[in-house]
Amino acid sequence: MEIYKGKSILKGIAIGKVLFYQKEEQSVKREKIEDVELELERYRAASKEAVRQLREIYEKAVREVGEVNAAIFEVHAMMLEDGDYVDSIVNIIETQRVNAEFAVAAAGDNFSRMFAEMEDEYFRSRAADVKDISERVVGILCGRNGNSNIGEEPVIVVADDLAPSETVQMDKEKLLAFVTRYGSANSHTAILARTMDIPALIGVDIREEWNGKQAVIDGYEGIICLDPDEETLERARERQREDVEARDLLQQLRGKEDVTAGGRPIRLYANIASVKDVTSVLANDAAGIGLFRSEFLYLEAEDYPDEEAQFQAYKTVAENMAGKKVIVRTLDIGADKQVDYFHLEPEENPAMGYRAIRVCLDRPKVFRTQLRALLRASAYGNIAIMYPMIISVDEVRKIRKIVEDLKQELDENGISYGDVEQGIMIETPAAAVISDLLAQEVDFFSIGTNDLTQYTLAIDRQNMKLDSIYDAHHPAVLRMIQMTVENGHKHGCWVGICGELGADMTLTETFLKMGVDELSVSPSCILPLRKKIREFQF
Ligand code: PEP
Ligand code: MG
Repeated sequence: MEIYKGKSILKGIAIGKVLFYQKEEQSVKREKIEDVELELERYRAASKEAVRQLREIYEKAVREVGEVNAAIFEVHAMMLEDGDYVDSIVNIIETQRVNAEFAVAAAGDNFSRMFAEMEDEYFRSRAADVKDISERVVGILCGRNGNSNIGEEPVIVVADDLAPSETVQMDKEKLLAFVTRYGSANSHTAILARTMDIPALIGVDIREEWNGKQAVIDGYEGIICLDPDEETLERARERQREDVEARDLLQQLRGKEDVTAGGRPIRLYANIASVKDVTSVLANDAAGIGLFRSEFLYLEAEDYPDEEAQFQAYKTVAENMAGKKVIVRTLDIGADKQVDYFHLEPEENPAMGYRAIRVCLDRPKVFRTQLRALLRASAYGNIAIMYPMIISVDEVRKIRKIVEDLKQELDENGISYGDVEQGIMIETPAAAVISDLLAQEVDFFSIGTNDLTQYTLAIDRQNMKLDSIYDAHHPAVLRMIQMTVENGHKHGCWVGICGELGADMTLTETFLKMGVDELSVSPSCILPLRKKIREFQF
């Protein structure tokens, strides 16, 4: 039995087999071959397998995200069989007498470069698709399995690092826990683990030879135990049973109001990253959704999700929440959330760079598509729209003008929409300091303490070396929150907190006393927080 320590992201126990997850990117070597026919046969078999995998992914995606969102996988399967693409690979193998891996990678690069240089946006966005399908075939030829594919058995995923786009593609039913060498407690991968209610450890000295071993993850102690002895296994199982009992006990709080014993109400909403998370929102009896991180719709997709795909996603969430508030945050990409097909250039300081609302205001087509989908979906439930990374009144006015234009367009086409509240995230010191001015422009504020802490303290939330001084309790952060609540209320805005600090129960009393109207937290934190709130006497 071996024990390794790390930093825990979510308290909980997982018992299962380790899967050592390796990034798909690997350089492909050019090798001369003798038998051209054999190499062509290897290529054809790999291509056939790739088509089979894509058809399987398509079926799964139809079940999980609907036909419209799944269509891209069908397109990918068709692209693999495209005459020009196939001819190009065959030609490279035959004329250069090189290995199939190299031929597929080279053809993939050529086609993707050619698409990337085209005028038409549709063709330009095909560049990422060609790259993707070629990588899949190369992966099969090299004996690797598909993209973020973690197989059929439930596993503990062990990796150097995981990008949010990789995490979100993994099958949540099969994911028992994450263990990574890198990553910080405030990164989006960590936040996803909390949202999905999956134990996760970071900063662990992981090894490839752990692959296939039995392990116990103890999120209470922050340890991974490999080849556990019977006593450790029994203790872990006992702890899992206790967790289930504690959860069952909390279930008694379902249907109860979020109000202190002294009668002070507060709304407890949930944070989600995908349509599927609504199940746990309902299971944990949240009063609404306070933050739908809509960028994960983009991260899950291989190409820009079109208006229809987004409309279906927002409509599904709104309908499933049956009249309860659903606050959708508009696209917040950039920094650690990179989407290939956006082709964002590398930056010196990505957290302070071209991200979130800055990208949306700069790429009106992308922004308008999302807003139109949101407005249309608002006819089917209680949708509110929230804008990330705001720093000025001018930005808010520009956004509101776009929304007004879109509403007019919908009116002209006889398309209905609901009465949407519009709010902004307060996650920059600039927004907190001018919250009195911003409050006059919007209906609500939601304080994003993750970024507000990073920018107020000048501490990169992605940098694990700084985790110990990333102090969201710093008086500067708490004063910003207080100031925002006071300014919001003075001008008729309600104020919530949707950063991770909202779930910090050592501050619940402080937030209530400040007058915070809403806390939006991971679904699994709703019932423990309800318990805490109902115990306060004031
Ligand atoms: C925040 O910054 O607090 C927030 C909720 O947004 P995100 O964590 O997605 O950046
Ligand atoms: Mg943020």
